Amino acid sequence: MKSYKEILGNKTWSFLHTLAENLPDKLTKKESREFRQFFLYLSKIYPCEECQIFFAKYIDKFNIDPSKRILISKYLIDFHNIVNIKLNKPLYLKKKIK
Ligand SMILES: Cc1cc2nc3c(=O)[nH]c(=O)nc-3n(C[C@H](O)[C@H](O)[C@H](O)COP(=O)(O)OP(=O)(O)OC[C@H]3O[C@@H](n4cnc5c(N)ncnc54)[C@H](O)[C@@H]3O)c2cc1C
Repeated sequence: MKSYKEILGNKTWSFLHTLAENLPDKLTKKESREFRQFFLYLSKIYPCEECQIFFAKYIDKFNIDPSKRILISKYLIDFHNIVNIKLNKPLYLKKKIK
C-alpha cells in the first residue's frame, strides 16, 4: 500500500506538470510574478516535512525563470528528477517536452 507521502507526491507532481503544460507559451510579467509567488508559497506549506525541507532548499539554490512555459516545464522536470535521484527512481528525459 502506498504511503501518504507517495500519494501526495504523485498527485502533486501530476498537478504541477499539468499546470506547467497548460500555461501560456510566454507569460506576462504579472503571470510570471504570480506563478513564482504560488511556487514559493507551495514550498513553504507543502504538507510532508521531509519533502518540504527538500523543496525549500531546491528553490533557494536554483533561481526559476518563470517568463516562458517551456522553462517552467523544464525546471519542474529537473526538480522532479533531483527527487527521483534521491529516491533511486528512474530519470525522466527532457526530450519528451514540446
Ligand atoms: C516537491 C516534492 C518533493 C518531494 N520530496 C520527497 C522527499 O524528500 N522524500 C520522499 O520520500 N518523497 C518526496 N516526494 C515524493 C516523491 O517525489 C514521489 O512523488 C513519491 O515517491 C511517489 O512516487 P511515484 O512512483 O508515484 O512517482 P512520482 O515521482 O510521483 O511521479 C509520478 C509520475 O510522473 C512521471 N515522472 C517521473 N519523473 C518525472 C519528471 N522528472 N518529469 C516529469 N514527469 C516525471 C512518471 O510517469 C511518474 O510515474 C516529493 C514530492 C514532491 C512533489
